[in-house]
Amino acid sequence: MKKKWILALDQGTTSSRAILFDTSGIARANVAEEFTQYFPQPGWVEHDPWDIWNTTKNCMQEVLKQAGIKPEEIAAIGITNQRETALVWDRRTGKPVYNAIVWQCRRTADACVRLREEGWNEILRRKTGLMADAYFTATKVAWILDNVPGARRRAEQGYLMMGTVDSWLMYNLTGGKVHATDFTNASRTQLFNIHTQEWDPTLLKLFRIPDTMLPKAQPSGSFFGMTDPEILGCEVPIHGVAGDQQAALFGQACFKAGNVKNTYGTGCFLLMNTGARAVQSRNGLLTTLAATVEGTPVQYALEGSVFTGGASIQWLRDQLGLISSASQSEELALSVPDTGGVYLVPAFTGLGTPWWDMFARGTLFGMTRGTSRAHLVRAALESIAFQSRDVLDVMIKDAGYPVTSLKVDGGASANAFLMQFQADIIQRPVERPAEVQTTALGAAYLAALSAGLFKDQNDIVENWTLERTFQPQMTREESQNRYEGWQHAVRQAIAYTKKD
Ligand code: ADP
Repeated sequence: MKKKWILALDQGTTSSRAILFDTSGIARANVAEEFTQYFPQPGWVEHDPWDIWNTTKNCMQEVLKQAGIKPEEIAAIGITNQRETALVWDRRTGKPVYNAIVWQCRRTADACVRLREEGWNEILRRKTGLMADAYFTATKVAWILDNVPGARRRAEQGYLMMGTVDSWLMYNLTGGKVHATDFTNASRTQLFNIHTQEWDPTLLKLFRIPDTMLPKAQPSGSFFGMTDPEILGCEVPIHGVAGDQQAALFGQACFKAGNVKNTYGTGCFLLMNTGARAVQSRNGLLTTLAATVEGTPVQYALEGSVFTGGASIQWLRDQLGLISSASQSEELALSVPDTGGVYLVPAFTGLGTPWWDMFARGTLFGMTRGTSRAHLVRAALESIAFQSRDVLDVMIKDAGYPVTSLKVDGGASANAFLMQFQADIIQRPVERPAEVQTTALGAAYLAALSAGLFKDQNDIVENWTLERTFQPQMTREESQNRYEGWQHAVRQAIAYTKKD
């Protein structure tokens, strides 16, 4: 039987998904399942590890059924996942000792403030490319060891294993045989030295995590292990693993230094490939490992995020009732020539790169008696593009590479008004691919390369199909004027918050 399918598992924050791709990167079937979010205390977020595994398993089995494909026809599995989320389980039983602590969870914020006060931030940045923040895995694992009765003792006796979601999925996919992770997921734990690609003894000591708990870290495109035949009906090799944003960078074929992609979801994630150079940002961007295939040189990326992207469109729909669907925002925005001088600074949860203000809050500027619903909707969409330019500008400044275009994906990249405005505001072409499920596609490509289905990355570059290019149409002067208006509005929003 010809093995020609690649099964991509995309384990996200709110849902799990399985997609079957052929070797030209075309999806044959796609199944997703949502699962429960737990908020045990304000600011805390957890997932049930068994929900993570069971929804993934269901999607995997269902996608084969829907496509009418036998497991024997799958050449390789690729995994991509929500990053940083921490799990701890017992190697004797395979049972988690606590729920998965999700990347969004702020329970270790105080511990991170202490790390900063003790001067660890600089060391963490140098070794891991990250800052001391509750997002990352290490303090979450330490919390489990410190707060689950008996956990630290069991860990010190060598009975416990830790991992991010990819490790947990692989452990279950292989019937407990494989305890591994890839470099991109490891690079988000705050325990991994991104320059040597090894777990760092100083950091393990700092976070008091025994090294016996750690998974084996290996390149994103490499052989991780065989699935247990019980799960799909036969053994299938796992050949690719990467954290979601790095998988998307790979799926967008951003293989050269200076290639950038922006994912427009709830928030926006911009990643720039910086090649063999681990660029240290002066503006609060993270330095992280990009996904690479075994035997090829390690690559790094700069990463910045916009906290409130598509979420402001949800806000217009759900809180204000100004629109009935996210896609309706496009026709409303296009019904007016501009916002009439209105700016929305959607700092609902503070401002990220490069402003870094946790206390800033959402602010509307410049309204007149003539301001309409269409102006407000347009201002919300424009704010997504302005914030993305904020991040892109500091990336270009920090890395020094010329950026000739921006590749886009994610739910809100469907909005043609937003994409056109983005091109106008960055004064560069915006390129939207035919396949916008680039996260799953990236995992599939990593698996395909490692399994030998592709010769090299050129096959991926050839597969990457442009759906539409948005060329800048606004004059440079007009674009700059509007962007300066935005920057002025952000400064005012920050000043307003600081007053009380
Ligand atoms: P996530 O992976 O973060 O859940 P998705 O990639 O599924 O996000 O994108 C969903 C987000 O995109 C939502 O915040 C939604 O408001 C926004 N969105 C979806 N379609 C559109 C559209 N046509 N115009 C503007 N925003 C949109």
